[in-house]
Amino acid sequence: MIIAGNWKMYRGPDPRALVGLDAIVCPPFTSLRECVQAGLTTYAQNVHWESEGAYTGEVSAPMLLELGVTGSLVGHSERRQYFCETDETVAKRARAALDAGLNVIACVGETLAERESGETENVLRRQLAVLEPHARLVLAYEPVWAIGTGLTATPEMAQAAHAFIKSLLDAPVLYGGSVKPDNAEGLLGQPDVDGALVGGASLDVDSFKAICETAARIPS
Ligand code: PEP
Repeated sequence: MIIAGNWKMYRGPDPRALVGLDAIVCPPFTSLRECVQAGLTTYAQNVHWESEGAYTGEVSAPMLLELGVTGSLVGHSERRQYFCETDETVAKRARAALDAGLNVIACVGETLAERESGETENVLRRQLAVLEPHARLVLAYEPVWAIGTGLTATPEMAQAAHAFIKSLLDAPVLYGGSVKPDNAEGLLGQPDVDGALVGGASLDVDSFKAICETAARIPS
């Protein structure tokens, strides 16, 4: 089971409070060094496809590796929604990060309108078509309507989407979207759910620990 905490653009908990937890933390760029120094498995929230150049505001895979960061999220729906991220740029980021030696968690998922119009599988097919299998590639199924909303996919919905994703691309698939201590067991207990990408609940040490403890109880 893989549990990753996405702190988004929040300061997050004191990294020292998470030492010993079997989890990945994805803090903002300014907290990466502190998390690495605390001994946490630390991923960035985004990474550029070039190793250097005139790309103001971006950070490259070699820069992250130099810091001791071992992976990165790519294609989070907030990047797609607010920062013009496309399937093609997600693919470029993923490929460059993997080639450089980082682990990658690539996020996919449909909006509420897409789900309601029966487009979920087409959206996932399109988002996955640009990605290639890789030993260090993990996917995160994050239905956009469930992120930060308190709405969660039912375990059955998550299972169906994960099975579909795995039929297209052979990789572990994390579920993300309002995972909390009280719904973690049902979601993580599904056969094709290989872990969770946790946003809001990862900002609270006790909630995040409770989710990690639940994951540890579930055989993978
Ligand atoms: C996320 O940020 O990837 C996420 C799933 O957030 P939340 O758990 O708050 O829905």
